[in-house]
Amino acid sequence: MRFYVLIGPPGSGKGTLAEMLVRELNWHQLSTGNLCRKHIAQGTSLGQQIDFAIKSGKLVSDELIVDMVAQWIEQQPEGANIILDGFPRTVEQARSFMQMLGTQFSSAKLDVVRLNLADEAVIERLYGRAVCTNKDCQMVYSLAKGSSLAPKQDKICDKCSSLLERRADDTIETIKDRLATYYHHEKPLVNFYADHGRMVHELDVNKQLDQIFKDFTNVVGVEL
Ligand code: AMP
Repeated sequence: MRFYVLIGPPGSGKGTLAEMLVRELNWHQLSTGNLCRKHIAQGTSLGQQIDFAIKSGKLVSDELIVDMVAQWIEQQPEGANIILDGFPRTVEQARSFMQMLGTQFSSAKLDVVRLNLADEAVIERLYGRAVCTNKDCQMVYSLAKGSSLAPKQDKICDKCSSLLERRADDTIETIKDRLATYYHHEKPLVNFYADHGRMVHELDVNKQLDQIFKDFTNVVGVEL
């Protein structure tokens, strides 16, 4: 197994890059945010527990997230390339994840990549973002004029033809809270990886997606 952890503020394009890695390289994507939203849409008991946290932009408890991730990883095929989009988000989650690697996947490789984007660009992207309402899809688009991530048909998903809508937590207040939460955890997380001998690769994501994809494969040493 090989794991790639994406760190970056909300709106830095973790999900969009992960989706391209799935499409182009057959990697396996775990978006904890997508999984959480799916639980809520299905009305599972987990979904009911996390509904409020998600809508208000607060983090879901480490314990619930780690259980969710462990279950998902168990179902992945041997030798898969796994891209983690939005996990681990706290030092506690990173610690649990490293333990999981140590006990169950001792030969697994781990790369950590931080996506860097200025706050103004983050806010602009989140404000113009629309996502597919089909919770098995959740493809992300930009509604900004002339964007290469615009849907082909207005407000319709290219992939599954479901309606697109803005995310409930993409309001200006919630975006600010989510950014503050991200920065609160970012440095301790980076320090945690450094303390455990893991280099954090830096990726400038103020670019077109194709270029970001190439830069990413370069920094982690994947040949195309
Ligand atoms: P995202 O789609 O990554 O922006 O995540 C949306 C929301 O899901 C976050 O604001 C949190 O409420 C929740 N969430 C996603 N991943 C995590 C995580 N690793 N830890 C805690 N909460 C999470």
